[in-house]
Amino acid sequence: MDGQGRGTAVSPTHAQPDRRSPLVFEVHELGRRAGAMKRIDATVPAPAELVVGVIGVPEGSDIELELTLQSVTEGVLVTGTATAQLRGQCSRCLTGIEGTDSFDIQELYFYPGNEVDEEESLVVDETIDLEEVLRDTVVLELPFTPLCEDDCLGLCPDCGFNRNLDPTHTHGDRIDPRWSKLTGLTGDTPN
Ligand SMILES: [Zn+2]
Ligand SMILES: [Zn+2]
Repeated sequence: MDGQGRGTAVSPTHAQPDRRSPLVFEVHELGRRAGAMKRIDATVPAPAELVVGVIGVPEGSDIELELTLQSVTEGVLVTGTATAQLRGQCSRCLTGIEGTDSFDIQELYFYPGNEVDEEESLVVDETIDLEEVLRDTVVLELPFTPLCEDDCLGLCPDCGFNRNLDPTHTHGDRIDPRWSKLTGLTGDTPN
């Protein structure tokens, strides 16, 4: 009863499921009857490193899963959404960004015995592991250059001023008075 005697070699990516993981779900009740369905409505903690550049899902934050598991001939088809919190930085003005986003999930987990590529997801020991699928989906959909607003004006290239705060900000031809003030800061003279 310790798993010995199962003849199947298991590749690293198709390793035995970690049943303690909140992203591993039982599918045995689908019983391989094509058409059988199961709903998953669950809140799970975000795994680490759901991040692209300056934006991502904070580790341990709540991810709401609303999924339908459907038994099909080759395996278990998982469809639905994962709604996650996002935290990051505007890539133009560096202002913090917080929000939530929904990610569409669609993945076929093959039953053992099907000839599948390494990258394909498998039903292992009557369970499916959503972590890899979640990671692939989120990382693929996160913007490489997130913006606080579509028309974010960014920072002034001359002084770093956030131009969203004053779109008329300009240095004109004059030297900005702040620069002359800054030159005074090199000494120890108190203002
Ligand atoms: Zn911005
Ligand atoms: Zn400026």
